[in-house]
Amino acid sequence: MQRLIFEPEHEAFRDSAARFFTNEVAPHAERWREQGHVDREIYRKAGAQGYLLPWADEAYGGLGIDDFRYEQIIMEENARHGDPGFYIHLHSGLVAPYLNGLGTDEQKARWLPGCITGETILAVAMTEPGAGSDLAGMKAKAEDRGDHWLLNGSKTYISNGQIADLVIVAARTGDARHSLGLFVVEAGMEGFTRGRRLKKMGLAAQDTSELFFSDVKVPKANQLGDPLNGFRYLSRFLAGERLIAAASAIAAAQVAFDLTLEYVQERRAFGRPVGMFQNARFTLAGLRAEIDAIQTFVDQCVLLYNRGELTSELAAEAKLLASETEGRMTDAGVQLHGGAGYMDEFRISRMYTDARVSRIFAGSSEIMKEIIGRGLGLDERKLDRDG
Ligand SMILES: Cc1cc2nc3c(=O)[nH]c(=O)nc-3n(C[C@H](O)[C@H](O)[C@H](O)COP(=O)(O)OP(=O)(O)OC[C@H]3O[C@@H](n4cnc5c(N)ncnc54)[C@H](O)[C@@H]3O)c2cc1C
Repeated sequence: MQRLIFEPEHEAFRDSAARFFTNEVAPHAERWREQGHVDREIYRKAGAQGYLLPWADEAYGGLGIDDFRYEQIIMEENARHGDPGFYIHLHSGLVAPYLNGLGTDEQKARWLPGCITGETILAVAMTEPGAGSDLAGMKAKAEDRGDHWLLNGSKTYISNGQIADLVIVAARTGDARHSLGLFVVEAGMEGFTRGRRLKKMGLAAQDTSELFFSDVKVPKANQLGDPLNGFRYLSRFLAGERLIAAASAIAAAQVAFDLTLEYVQERRAFGRPVGMFQNARFTLAGLRAEIDAIQTFVDQCVLLYNRGELTSELAAEAKLLASETEGRMTDAGVQLHGGAGYMDEFRISRMYTDARVSRIFAGSSEIMKEIIGRGLGLDERKLDRDG
């Protein structure tokens, strides 16, 4: 379906992004999957193209382009020509905005230039072995020791955990359930160690790790914003995070659709292409309609986001719908590929396992429904408060 949100300059940008992912990511993707992480070099190459933090102020080396459509295009072209293990949007769109939005001028001048060139790779560490969806159950603790915070705790499932130079760590700063601070921990700080690179079902080229913090002295100069306000900050950035998750999930669904359509036109059984069986035709017809509708919805959310008007409920709707569709599309894609769909050498097989996490991370589908439901006034927490 024709998409109406892009101008000619976006299309030119898309062409060069397609070339970049084809030439610089695709040839290395297999090796990255085997080694379990991307090469650091790819961040520097992306930085040289202006693909990292394109929204950042020119004073720090950014392009000052505050238009989410460019980031959407980068995600779409990475999904089509690159590899989702190159988690460029985690660096640029999920973590860097915390530094930019909460950092002081001194902090931004210290950190943003390296993030823009790709010298500095970012991660964010919220999840713990005992706290994921319910971040208020977090145990990591930061104690105020005058000129520094003393950080103790452990985190898990952290993307870019092995290769990150800066990790934004969330930790409790008081006894109240919602006292939470955000701290920038730098590679090499004493007491900060990386644990196992976790083996996963999919996203093999994306390193996901445990991180440990044992009496790490985090200078006050590395505290992000008000150390009691972390929860408010988390919710401030959530709409953007969910829009990113939605845009990349629907992009992957579109790629899976194209691969599958091509396959069913070539593969023959009982004297005809398998795509000519009514089952394949109806399955793909239904998914075509679904992807078109959700892509249009996501595009509309992108425009609202650019205007600063995307609500957390709409972002949750987009993330829920796009990730569920990605799951349905990749599952149908495997089925329509038959045995080939189960073979690693066929891309659809990897897309199927890569897609499974989209319904879990950046807030699970169930949490998305909670957010949408609460927006309707159906908030269980009110019962506890009001009796
Ligand atoms: C590949 C990968 C990369 C990740 N990267 C990062 C990262 O970089 N940084 C980071 O901090 N975290 C990261 N995560 C963690 C991710 O955000 C969490 O796994 C996710 O938020 C779910 O939390 P959980 O695993 O604790 O599941 P749980 O919270 O234990 O959920 C278990 C089940 O219970 C359901 N559930 C929970 N609460 C409710 C509720 N109120 N109502 C209904 N159902 C509910 C969930 O939907 C789920 O189905 C990553 C995870 C993965 C798998």
